[in-house]
Amino acid sequence: MAPLPDTFFMQQALAEARAAGEAGDVPVGAVLVVDGEVVARGRNRKEQDLDPTGHAEILTLREAARALGAWRLSGATLYVTLEPCAMCAGALVQARVGRLVFACRDPKAGATGSLMNLVQDPRLNHRVEIAEGTCGEQASALLKDFFRARRRTGSAERGELAERLKAPDSKSGVPETVSKVRILHSPPC
Ligand SMILES: [Zn+2]
Repeated sequence: MAPLPDTFFMQQALAEARAAGEAGDVPVGAVLVVDGEVVARGRNRKEQDLDPTGHAEILTLREAARALGAWRLSGATLYVTLEPCAMCAGALVQARVGRLVFACRDPKAGATGSLMNLVQDPRLNHRVEIAEGTCGEQASALLKDFFRARRRTGSAERGELAERLKAPDSKSGVPETVSKVRILHSPPC
């Protein structure tokens, strides 16, 4: 049987990314494949878990190591919808992942080609094969839609705050505090 194409697995990573977005996290998803089978999947949970290391790749590598009973994932391919950040690129080297397939680049934080290429640095003891661009347009559209929607929510909240600051509180005459304002974060990875 012919091996399944990269797009088949990237679609599963995209499903994880959509679920992350629906939960309020930046939509990034990943799956780890060994011998044509998905052994682990993960999605960005940084906001949900209030965990700065809760990126899709890290969670997927952890789940894969648990499922396989080994931290060394030499024969594995990691599919992820966005170019890994420095933390995740480092984790790919630590896990000895054989191949990385990512959908779209992250020009602001990508560490597997954009800002640097940590997974193919000849000074390190392991190098990862890279393929990029698989379902790239879908992945970047997902991210753009997410940030567009979040900017709309943010500006609605800011408008509401401005109104509240204009109108003094009826009892004390003091404007309400800004404690309810949600601070918008820049994207992880
Ligand atoms: Zn990351």
